[in-house]
Amino acid sequence: MKLHQPISFEFFPTKTAEGAAKLALVRDKLSVLKPLYYSVTYGAGGSTQEGTINTVTSIKEAGFSAAPHLSCIGSTQEGIKEILNTLKMIGIDRIVALRGDLPSGHRDVGEFRYANELVEFIRSETGDHFHIEVAAYPEVHPQAKNSQADLDNFIRKMNAGANSAITQYFFNIDAYLYFIDSCEKAGMDKPIVPGIMPITNYSRLAGFSDMCGAEIPRWLAKRLEGYGDDIDSIKALGLEVISNLCEQLLAAGAPGLHFYTLNQSKTTLEICQNLGIK
Ligand code: FAD
Repeated sequence: MKLHQPISFEFFPTKTAEGAAKLALVRDKLSVLKPLYYSVTYGAGGSTQEGTINTVTSIKEAGFSAAPHLSCIGSTQEGIKEILNTLKMIGIDRIVALRGDLPSGHRDVGEFRYANELVEFIRSETGDHFHIEVAAYPEVHPQAKNSQADLDNFIRKMNAGANSAITQYFFNIDAYLYFIDSCEKAGMDKPIVPGIMPITNYSRLAGFSDMCGAEIPRWLAKRLEGYGDDIDSIKALGLEVISNLCEQLLAAGAPGLHFYTLNQSKTTLEICQNLGIK
């Protein structure tokens, strides 16, 4: 079977030359799956700006398409303009545009309050140069006033000039399907690609899910928790659950899959193999 919908892989920037060399190996292993692009996260308040730019540059130089994430909270228009110019100079034409979260201790929100303002700014400064992805939250963003307000905010952000969206990861397919349905009912039918989180380590996943508002269903949490230090069993169940989720998403018409690789290739490759992606 050949997958017709595009897949993409997310990395975080590395801090050392050794880390960068390891990440290049991961990237090359994943390249057999012919991803549409590799995205690279951006630290809160611009803390990884240099690492993000270096990582997308090396992806580009290796002949692949790269999409830096760019968060705007705590930034000035001048600062964002400079980054956009740098990205254009190195041949980047795709961005994941985010508000981000202010690092603890920082109070100055800067000149952008929400991601829709960043999308508008990118469009007003660079026209149609960039393909802009934004973030979507099928299980509702943790700071949203309520689910309807979050949906309205998401649609405002898409209408500000985004081309498509990538979701926060989720384990319950209904959350995604209801979200897509609500967007369509509101007249928004741009592609919303599910973000896929491979399961390899329960305690890390539980901590992270708490923080970003992604729900691990009780049955799954209990099973994974019950395996304790038995990493092999956690990985085996994780592989089965995530492969099934991806299969169901594709069958339901998801326009692609975006994998949160955590800079590892093995589990993502195994999931794709289970899906018959070559
Ligand atoms: P927004 O779309 O601005 O939404 C933030 C909150 O404000 C929501 O509750 C929304 O309902 C509300 N809101 C939006 N607009 C308005 C408005 N006009 N008026 C009132 N309320 C409004 N974080 C990083 O630091 N670096 C990354 O690289 C990164 N990559 C990510 C990639 C993906 C695919 C996803 C899903 C998340 C990523 N994040 C990243 C996390 C993200 O930065 C946080 O979830 C952040 O809290 C929200 O960013 P946003 O762009 O979704 O914000």
